[in-house]
Amino acid sequence: MPSTPSTRSESSNLPTPASALVVAAHPDDAEFQCGATLAKWARLGTEIHHLVLTDGSKGTWDPDVDQAALVARRQAEQRSASEVLGGRGRVVFLGEVDGDLHADGPTTRTVCRILREIRPEVILAHDPWKRYRLHPDHAAAGELTVNAIVAARDPFFHPDQIQAGFRTHRVTSLLLFEPDEVNHVESVSDADVELRLAALETHTSQLETTHFYKLDPGGSRESALEEFRHQQRRALAAAGDVRGVGFAEEYHLIQDQL
Ligand SMILES: [Zn+2]
Repeated sequence: MPSTPSTRSESSNLPTPASALVVAAHPDDAEFQCGATLAKWARLGTEIHHLVLTDGSKGTWDPDVDQAALVARRQAEQRSASEVLGGRGRVVFLGEVDGDLHADGPTTRTVCRILREIRPEVILAHDPWKRYRLHPDHAAAGELTVNAIVAARDPFFHPDQIQAGFRTHRVTSLLLFEPDEVNHVESVSDADVELRLAALETHTSQLETTHFYKLDPGGSRESALEEFRHQQRRALAAAGDVRGVGFAEEYHLIQDQL
């Protein structure tokens, strides 16, 4: 939900980056947290990449589901979502087990190598310092991303990668989504919000289970989807309204330590 702008100064609208990488714990997290920003930037020419850290194999409330089929389905959904947003970059799946993501050395090393390979100007990621967030993968994903950003820029982290041809890489901006403290917003258009919704709706495995049941257990798919769209638009409109823009997505921006 949008928060009241803090009394401290808040920035808005980064210069359009040449490339952006969103690092998400699960398929659909990127679209939920920053889909309209990604759509806006893609429209303006940014090359958008996705890195999804887990396989999404626990993303269902159906105990009888075929998990291997669910993983394959969610990867296809994520690729479709990227296309809907206008993403022209890579969609990478790290394949860690859903619910068992850890910001450990080997995983950080792998993410560091991916950053040195994709070389994004801007990274969007989970806020590892978000309070009262229950899902352990979201905090781990944020911590992994932050640690990998530091490792990717410094030559004495994983020097074997550099010897193998992956140069060090420094990102210019880190946007933490679902932030514990908002200090930056990206304003987005109605069309960007529609693309965020369209991208979210490609995650049909999630629409069938988690989102629908939560919203309207006894209702029809159509009414649940309509309510879901309304909720999404209301949240982005409220975030925009307090800043005097139409719609907005909220972040914590870090630039000074990169
Ligand atoms: Zn998630």
